[in-house]
Amino acid sequence: ISSSRLTVNAASERSYIMIKPDGVQRGLVGDIISRFERKGFALKGLKLFQTPQDLAEEHYSELKERPFFPALVKYIVSGPVVCMVWEGPGVVASARKLIGATNPLNAEPGTIRGDFAIVSGRNVVHGSDSPANGEREIALWFKEGELVDWEPTVLPWVLEL
Ligand code: UDP
Repeated sequence: ISSSRLTVNAASERSYIMIKPDGVQRGLVGDIISRFERKGFALKGLKLFQTPQDLAEEHYSELKERPFFPALVKYIVSGPVVCMVWEGPGVVASARKLIGATNPLNAEPGTIRGDFAIVSGRNVVHGSDSPANGEREIALWFKEGELVDWEPTVLPWVLEL
């Protein structure tokens, strides 16, 4: 199979997925990464990271007028997070389904939040809510050179390439 056939098509997109400090502290990193791997999405970036206050505020800038904003920022900087970029067709919406509803009590069993969390303020994981926000967040959390340009060799077994 020629390498050009392995290139993800134009329908592909990227999502910024982050395991929040509670997910790291509770030892859920492997389980969460595994769910995206098993689905078939491609991991393009991955790092353990201690979030500075200003980055947490910028990431959630759309929510800065909300009453829970100070607690949210405090939560995000409270310990290391795992920053990831996942790529594939429809990855943004699909990741939101894998993650589940913001309030974990409303999240379906089988989703990450449905399986592992109880309250919104400790809901274990973040996923971009649109492709445009995905790109905005990837640019915020990753520097040039931190992402890896590669395609899984199994891609033709996951996508109809
Ligand atoms: N959040 C919270 N209380 C709320 C709503 C949201 O603590 O009443 C937190 C929660 O951790 C959530 C994050 O703020 O994941 C961002 O909120 P958003 O509405 O964007 O939810 P998400 O896209 O993460 O599901």
